[in-house]
Amino acid sequence: MTAFLLVALAAYRGARRDAQKHTCIYALGVLEDVKRRWAEENSKMNGDEVRDSDLRKYFKGGIMPSCEAGGTFTIRPVGTPPKCSVKGHALPEEAARSATRPR
Ligand SMILES: [Zn+2]
Repeated sequence: MTAFLLVALAAYRGARRDAQKHTCIYALGVLEDVKRRWAEENSKMNGDEVRDSDLRKYFKGGIMPSCEAGGTFTIRPVGTPPKCSVKGHALPEEAARSATRPR
């Protein structure tokens, strides 16, 4: 019984981590979308710096998305997808590249 509970608990924790990662990557995608919108509206080019304060107005109540697992987001310049400080919390490279640098 105890062993079963431990296994169930481990599975639960794993599922919770996956859910947090999923939510985080979704938030990074939203950030990237907003970044692109901001860049377009302000005639910014790839490589231009983006600050928190530039994007804040696009979010309801000025609240920026954040990582549920406690990671810190780095917005990074236009054309470079934002990232989270938690390992594994990252936008798929391919999606980010095809969206920002059409070939
Ligand atoms: Zn994260």
